[in-house]
Amino acid sequence: MKHKVMLVEDEEALALLLKYNLEKEGYDVLWEARGGKAVAEVEQNMPSVIILDWMLPELSGVEICKMIRSKPDIKSIPIIMLTAKGEEEDKIKGLSAGADDYVTKPFSIPELMARVKTQLRRAPEPADEKELVFEDIVMDITSKKVFRGENYIHLGPTEFRLLRMLMETPGKVFSREYLLKTVWGDNIYVESRTVDVHIRRLRKSLNEFGPDYIRTVRATGYAIDKNPIGENEE
Ligand code: CA
Repeated sequence: MKHKVMLVEDEEALALLLKYNLEKEGYDVLWEARGGKAVAEVEQNMPSVIILDWMLPELSGVEICKMIRSKPDIKSIPIIMLTAKGEEEDKIKGLSAGADDYVTKPFSIPELMARVKTQLRRAPEPADEKELVFEDIVMDITSKKVFRGENYIHLGPTEFRLLRMLMETPGKVFSREYLLKTVWGDNIYVESRTVDVHIRRLRKSLNEFGPDYIRTVRATGYAIDKNPIGENEE
């Protein structure tokens, strides 16, 4: 499998030059020009490394970096920050936002390629397939499909992310606040009741083909568990 490199850069000429050179090195390259779309694209594609420009439309590189670092499923992806600024203070800001490396424009292509290689040494080899399994529920992370036994379960993107969070640590009770923060993100205002609405939808889809494994913990939150302790009536 090829490593995926996610390039977030709004300058088209530079982006195309980098894409060309990264592909020559044997990587799959995903390019996103809009800051506002970057985090969703990272979650969708799970790249091995992210090259992130500092100045972007909608959201800055520093903000994107902080958002990525706050999300458990993508927080450990290495980030190389690109910037036109050479100030020491900006470098510190970039690194404290969670960037792993920092490259000042203009830079040489071989230098950036070497930095990418260094970060990839830390990244796990891309897996052909990643699956989460809980009893008869199987989630294929790569294709974003969920099955219960032989049955395909159609889930909306929010229900998928909720279920993924629960299935990553079965038995653990996740508070509504935690789920809101990780599934919806810090910057979006939603009421904690929204979590209940989506859990209800998730249950409805899942329970069509088997017992209810989602446990409601009164006044706290939710878990996925084999032996629900009978607090499931809402
Ligand atoms: Ca830019």
